[in-house]
Amino acid sequence: MAYVCLHCKKEVKQLERNFVRCPYCGYRVLAKKRSSLAKEVPSS
Ligand SMILES: [Zn+2]
Repeated sequence: MAYVCLHCKKEVKQLERNFVRCPYCGYRVLAKKRSSLAKEVPSS
């Protein structure tokens, strides 16, 4: 299951079991890239 960092928007595939962190920026809030992209605000 892939994740997307909410900070740098990079796709993160390497995840520990109970520790989710972006390897690029170190941000610890990732959204599951599965059904929907969390709360993606449409930029009109
Ligand atoms: Zn990141």
